[in-house]
Amino acid sequence: MTARPGLPSFDYVRASALDEVTRLLEEHGDEARLLMGGTDLFVRMRDGFIHPQIVVDVKHLPGMRDILYDEQTGLTVGAAATMNEVARHPAVQTHYPLLAEAANSVASYQVRNRATLGGNLCNGSPAADTAPATLLLEGRIVLYGQNGEREVSANEFFLGPGATAMQAGELMTAIRFPVPPAGSAGRYLKLGRNKAGDLAIAGVAVFGFPDGTTSGYHFRIGLASVAPVPLRALEAEEVLAANPPGDETFALAAEKAMEAASPIDDVRASAAYRKAMVRNLTLRGLREVWAQMS
Ligand SMILES: Cc1cc2nc3c(=O)[nH]c(=O)nc-3n(C[C@H](O)[C@H](O)[C@H](O)COP(=O)(O)OP(=O)(O)OC[C@H]3O[C@@H](n4cnc5c(N)ncnc54)[C@H](O)[C@@H]3O)c2cc1C
Repeated sequence: MTARPGLPSFDYVRASALDEVTRLLEEHGDEARLLMGGTDLFVRMRDGFIHPQIVVDVKHLPGMRDILYDEQTGLTVGAAATMNEVARHPAVQTHYPLLAEAANSVASYQVRNRATLGGNLCNGSPAADTAPATLLLEGRIVLYGQNGEREVSANEFFLGPGATAMQAGELMTAIRFPVPPAGSAGRYLKLGRNKAGDLAIAGVAVFGFPDGTTSGYHFRIGLASVAPVPLRALEAEEVLAANPPGDETFALAAEKAMEAASPIDDVRASAAYRKAMVRNLTLRGLREVWAQMS
């Protein structure tokens, strides 16, 4: 591979108010790009995929790095909170260990000091490691634009590879999570080519909690890197709601999760291998979450 050239030149603006950002986005359109950790943005600029004239740094805006927990309303994570800040925050570790585990699975420690939760979701990458946890924990994405603030549920946020419900002129300011159900447990199992920090070949999140359904328990399953978008394996969840928890049900649900995956072949793995790994990781995740709950 030939050496990559450095970054092209661009104007840098360190924004200090939300309306300054929306004004710049309106003025410059596609020529402006927002910056938080830069671990995706600068790679794409270096590789020549995008050539913004102006880069607007939004991570110093008020509240963008706050992580706040309230017993009634839940967790608010500023979009520019880094993966390491999320993963080691006491409230996240105590009440949202699935999110802490997912944040901690991204790349390497060094990259996690820069990479932000918001940046991971903004990309709309099917491989975003924090996306399945955000789906299962019923995260709501907070967006700010010319008409003020709006919220989009994580379920409606991911539209396709690189495409999200964010509109031109908007920025992400935070991710809000409701208080998790009592007695819940979760795991994020990621398979990469190495343990030192690679994008997922397949990622499976499992989240469970006791409830009043036929089985007495409710399970949610989220998948990364095995479809055009991060997604929930809803048919697998139905199997788990309708049958008593245990290995037989878990094996059936793992098959259904595998069927929900529609991966591609790429440099990291073949589609067939990815599908098989979804089944294996789902089965393992269900067993581990069940062991934590029972
Ligand atoms: C070596 C390496 C390893 C990696 N490994 C992983 C991995 O294992 N798992 C994984 O999921 N990812 C991985 N990544 C990808 C990346 O680190 C993550 O997606 C990261 O969370 C992105 O966050 P960021 O703050 O760096 O985003 P940035 O690069 O700052 O921004 C990402 C995108 O969002 C836009 N943007 C920035 N801020 C906003 C905002 N407030 N509102 C709207 N749009 C905005 C930017 O213009 C850009 O398009 C890796 C990257 C590298 C370089």
